[in-house]
Amino acid sequence: MTRKTLTTTVIIMMTTAVFIAGCNDDASRLQSPADIHGDILTTEEIKAALARIPVGEIGEEEIADLLFMREEEKLAHDVYTVLFDQYGQKIFTNIAASELKHTEAVKMLLDRYGLEDPVGDNGPGVFSNEDLQTLYNDLIESGSQSLTDAFLVGLAIEEIDILDLEEAMAGTELPDILLVYENLLKGSHNHLRAFVRNYESQTGEIYVPRWLSQEAYDEILSADSGQGRRGGRRGGRGR
Ligand code: MN
Ligand code: MN
Repeated sequence: MTRKTLTTTVIIMMTTAVFIAGCNDDASRLQSPADIHGDILTTEEIKAALARIPVGEIGEEEIADLLFMREEEKLAHDVYTVLFDQYGQKIFTNIAASELKHTEAVKMLLDRYGLEDPVGDNGPGVFSNEDLQTLYNDLIESGSQSLTDAFLVGLAIEEIDILDLEEAMAGTELPDILLVYENLLKGSHNHLRAFVRNYESQTGEIYVPRWLSQEAYDEILSADSGQGRRGGRRGGRGR
């Protein structure tokens, strides 16, 4: 699956999600900063680790991936910031803070390799990559419909981010780039789990992954520390 396919798919899939009534208001209690940030490296730790790794020889595809990831992480930050302003749910501002660190970590790599930053002076909601601009616009529109839609937007962003990061990781052997991507991927796993908890609590529905395979999704969810709550609840719901 390519990034282009993914960004087009979002737009289609966002409109086909199924909503079930049965809301409650405790969603914001279901995650804490520790859930969101987990054992992720801090910006300072990344900086220190990168300083110990020699700068490698970077190829065109690796460059394209870095430029894309810089803006994809910015997109996550910008979308969650808007959703927090609209709904006031803490999960959005906590995860936005994490995404800001992610986009800054990719920027460190751009600087290391002397690459021009696609973000430049762009403010919130503005992207050099046209696909990401379209995606941003669609996600904001979709997320503004309801809090459930906003959680679905978060789930879409995290599932897609995981696939894009995995694809970018498969395309490089440079240890500095892998270090950063690895850290971003851990973050995305945490974020996905947090959005799943909020979505399921809000709707009373089991979330069914829309981009990740059920198998990959189950593996990520089962890494959730000590919750052990998913077994036996999923029978017959696969698709
Ligand atoms: Mn991220
Ligand atoms: Mn994320």
